Amino acid sequence: MSSRLAPAVNPFGAHRAVEPEGTLPYAAQQLDPGLPLHPGETLLDVEALNIDSASFKQLLDEAGGDTEHVARRIMQIVDERGKMHNPVTGSGGLLIGTVKETLRGGGDVAVGQRVVTLASLTTTPLELARIEEVNPRTHQVRVAGRAIMFERSPFAVLDGSLPEPLAMSVLDVCGAPAQARRLVRAGSICCVVGAAGKSGMLVSWVAAAQGATVLGLVRDHVEAERLGKLGIGAKPVVCDATDPLGVYHLVREATGGAMADVVFNCVNVPKAEMSCILAARQRGLIYFFSMATSFQAAALGAEAVGADVDLMIGNGYAEGHAATALALVRDNPALRAAFEGMLG
Ligand code: NAP
Repeated sequence: MSSRLAPAVNPFGAHRAVEPEGTLPYAAQQLDPGLPLHPGETLLDVEALNIDSASFKQLLDEAGGDTEHVARRIMQIVDERGKMHNPVTGSGGLLIGTVKETLRGGGDVAVGQRVVTLASLTTTPLELARIEEVNPRTHQVRVAGRAIMFERSPFAVLDGSLPEPLAMSVLDVCGAPAQARRLVRAGSICCVVGAAGKSGMLVSWVAAAQGATVLGLVRDHVEAERLGKLGIGAKPVVCDATDPLGVYHLVREATGGAMADVVFNCVNVPKAEMSCILAARQRGLIYFFSMATSFQAAALGAEAVGADVDLMIGNGYAEGHAATALALVRDNPALRAAFEGMLG
């Protein structure tokens, strides 16, 4: 893709939108990852992508489990769009790389630093020379390529205190525990749907630490065991998160009819909206961290069942979210062991 002169450089990256021109990066069908850098931008040599779980599952399902096919599809998307923006799930992930050149002010970025981008791949100009390996367990993809961070793009500098693949996995979902810290109160009932996945474990951990009773909805007994090994007293409930009536009855039974004060949707599959809504009490709150969530299904579904609940979209960003999540995993051996067990 050739570089071009941008109409007006801005800290949000709209100058890199090729189609439609001048839109913000998420809305753009295509971004221009070409050089030279514009004022405020930073160039990264990219080594790996961490594809978000909903996107990776969709790509793997579409490919019938063939990782070579997934690699070709990722290459095709990035070639066409100048970013890793899954057209089906609308989601991305993050990447790890080394700073090659920077025009960013503020002195917080230096050439040679190893960084993980915390702005979604759906908004990050990216060009890939090749894909070396797709890991279906970690959802990480080893690549050679280059990416551009904008002046306002959040990022984390890696300090070597965790192995990099582990740090990437934690950072991918670091918005979830930050929100759990804000939303979960002592003495409340917190229901975590997908509690044995990466974001689910972090949310469950924080909710328990906040003094909540944690109900962990998991797919099977293997996941229930993983959740149990965290040692936080979370009560596992084995269920299918896409079966709203099944979930409703199980949560009603587990809470003695009270239902949950707060529900976190941390699964990587669609059609879990109504399970989360039916798990909550009237005036409860549901936090849709999952990128497989349908806004229409949640809003209209809640209305249809007379659920007077607050529905929150899962913002992946919160101040201090990266450092907090990394510290949780670094400082708690049980949590770290669970992540390492999952990632292999
Ligand atoms: P993950 O580690 O793959 O965890 C998802 C969990 O959900 C897994 O334990 C999975 O079990 C379970 N699950 C899937 N289908 C289920 C079902 N029908 N019933 C019960 N459990 C089920 O995913 P993650 O990395 O934590 O990500 C969770 C979600 O957050 C994804 O949708 C991801 O795209 C999204 N996300 C959002 C943001 C944001 O900024 N809001 C950022 C990153 C990721 P199995 O492994 O057995 O399938």
